[in-house]
Amino acid sequence: MGIRGVCLHYRWNEKLEDDVVYPEYDSLNDTFLIDSDGFSNANTLMRDSYGNLHNGYQGFDTWQGGYAVYNLDQKYLTFEGTIVTDASEGSEGSMQIQIYLDDQLAFSQANITKQTEQIPVSLDVTDVKVMKIVTQTEESHQWLYLVDDILLPHIHTPGEWEIKQEPTCTVKGIKVQYCTECKEECNTGEIEASGHKPGDWEVREEPTCTKEGTEVQICTVCKQECNTREIEALGHEPGEWEIKQEATCAEEGIRVKYCTRCKEECETEKIDVLEHTPGDEWETETEATCSEAGEEVKRCTVCGEICEKRSIPQKDHEESEEWETTIEATCSGEGEEVLRCKNCGLILDHRTIEKQDHEPGEAVETVAPTCTSSGTSVVYCKNCGEILETAPIPETGHTFGKWVTVRGSIWNSPMVKERICSVCGFRDSEKSYVWIWVKPVVIIAILGAVIIWILYTQMVKAGLEPKKENIKKLFEKKKANLKERLNRSDNDDEIKK
Ligand SMILES: [Zn+2]
Ligand SMILES: [Zn+2]
Ligand SMILES: [Zn+2]
Ligand SMILES: [Zn+2]
Ligand SMILES: [Zn+2]
Ligand SMILES: [Zn+2]
Ligand SMILES: [Zn+2]
Repeated sequence: MGIRGVCLHYRWNEKLEDDVVYPEYDSLNDTFLIDSDGFSNANTLMRDSYGNLHNGYQGFDTWQGGYAVYNLDQKYLTFEGTIVTDASEGSEGSMQIQIYLDDQLAFSQANITKQTEQIPVSLDVTDVKVMKIVTQTEESHQWLYLVDDILLPHIHTPGEWEIKQEPTCTVKGIKVQYCTECKEECNTGEIEASGHKPGDWEVREEPTCTKEGTEVQICTVCKQECNTREIEALGHEPGEWEIKQEATCAEEGIRVKYCTRCKEECETEKIDVLEHTPGDEWETETEATCSEAGEEVKRCTVCGEICEKRSIPQKDHEESEEWETTIEATCSGEGEEVLRCKNCGLILDHRTIEKQDHEPGEAVETVAPTCTSSGTSVVYCKNCGEILETAPIPETGHTFGKWVTVRGSIWNSPMVKERICSVCGFRDSEKSYVWIWVKPVVIIAILGAVIIWILYTQMVKAGLEPKKENIKKLFEKKKANLKERLNRSDNDDEIKK
């Protein structure tokens, strides 16, 4: 149900006064239209045939038998309105309109034309459920309008405020006013929630050093927690400094304060590193060499870190024990040897190596000797090939075969012998005159032998020892024998006789 703050009569009046109180009313445009035909309504301006402007209208096409049915729902007491024709050109036919309240004809007007004065309508609609407006014409196509309509409801006369529902601490209550006439509930209001009635603050959660606590207020009425607030964290209460980690010369130390309440570490501070404690001895870090200076350091006796440094002067070069041959001496050229530093290899000195003696190789026959001519042998240097020695090789002489007698013999005539060199084929020949003396010598020898043999046998026969001294005896014996024999033969002859 809308509440209009504008008076019907001053709706278009500039002199509208603010403090005028107007009754509540509704319009047909607010009311539920149940049914209609040949009908049009709007909340726009319409100008009637007298030139008056109206805000909103219910328009009925009379030619169509336009009608509308409204649901008043027994809410209203009076209905007021004005029937007008519009400003548009149209036929001059007459129209009629009837208004039914719950099917009972309550208003009827016929012969309405454009010249007809505005027709006011005022009806008692108490307890009316449905209002029906019906129009019609018999002549021509025209519209009829109902404007400035007002539905006035029953205006309650509110009694005292009565509490319908008590408010609680948190929930609003409801108060109502009943109409003194119709006893209906004609006004409803809220009663503010009473709000809690907080008791004393109570600690719900004790604060700690780092965490806030909570305290609450309980409503004395509903016993609900109605206020909560934080209790500030207490913050640590640091105790004395305690060394957590001793400082060394290598690392900072740490000292802390523990909270006397929660024992948590609540303050931390660094302790500066200590000074190094250098030792007394210098330590060689890098040996000096003959090419680079060395370094010696003093270290901290605690952490071993180097606290002091100094260089060790570069060393002198140190000669190697042995010379190193860089160029070998040969029989054709001098060599070279150097003396290096034992440590860095730098050449400190150098000297030449005397040329070497030639080294004779095996004698090589360059010209071969023959049977009759000498050859040559040469000794070369093994290394450079130089000729060191040349020597003749004596001729070999012929290599003869056996002597072969080619003519004559030892017995007679001169004998010719020949031999041939197997190498060069040279023939060597020789004449022998042996034959001149061989024969007589042989004959004499044989004779002598025969004589000796005879002598021998005769001596044996004669019983003589075969000796030279006995040769004379033998001959004497023979001589004697012969004489005897001769004697005997004489005797024999005599005997025979
Ligand atoms: Zn009432
Ligand atoms: Zn409460
Ligand atoms: Zn603490
Ligand atoms: Zn140190
Ligand atoms: Zn060196
Ligand atoms: Zn040589
Ligand atoms: Zn020869």
